Amino acid sequence: MTKTETFSPEETFRLGQKIGEQARPGELYTLIGDLGAGKTVLTQGIARGLGIEEPVSSPTFTIVQVYEEGRMPFYHFDVYRIGDVEEMEEIGYEDYFYGQGITLIEWANLIEEILPKHYREIRIEKDLERGFDYRRITVSEVAG
Ligand code: ADP
Ligand code: MG
Repeated sequence: MTKTETFSPEETFRLGQKIGEQARPGELYTLIGDLGAGKTVLTQGIARGLGIEEPVSSPTFTIVQVYEEGRMPFYHFDVYRIGDVEEMEEIGYEDYFYGQGITLIEWANLIEEILPKHYREIRIEKDLERGFDYRRITVSEVAG
C-alpha cells in the first residue's frame, strides 16, 4: 500500500499523472471517495499521464467513456447510476476489464461481484483537522 498526502488539487493531479505514466495495459483501478474528494481531479491527472489531451470529466450519460488518443486506451467508468450488474453485461464490460487498456471505475463498490480477482484500489479521504485542501490518497493491491 502506498499513502500520499496532498495539499492542493494540483498535487492530486500530479499524483494521478504519475499513476497514468506508470500504468500498464490491462490494469484495473477502482476509485473511492466522497463527493468533492477529488476523484475527477485525480482522473484528469491519470488521463494526462496516459498522454490524453482532450478534457476528461465524469461520464454523466453513459456508464463508460472511452479515450483512445493516449499511449493505451483509457476506459473511464462511473457506475453510480447503474441499477443492476446486468447493465454491465449489456455494455460488454469484459472487453474493457480484460482488454489491453487501463480501466478506472468510480463507485466500483456497486459492482463488486464482477470485479476481477486482482485490481488496485485508490481511496481519497479528507481530514478537515488537517485543513480544507488536505487529502490522504492510498493505493492498495486487492487480490481476492
Ligand atoms: P469528485 O470527483 O470526487 O466529486 P472533484 O475532483 O470534482 O471531486 O472536486 C474536488 C474539489 O476539491 C475541487 O474543487 C478541488 O479544487 C478541491 N480540492 C481541494 N484540495 C484538493 C486536493 N488536495 N486534491 C484534490 N482536490 C482538491
Ligand atoms: Mg467527479
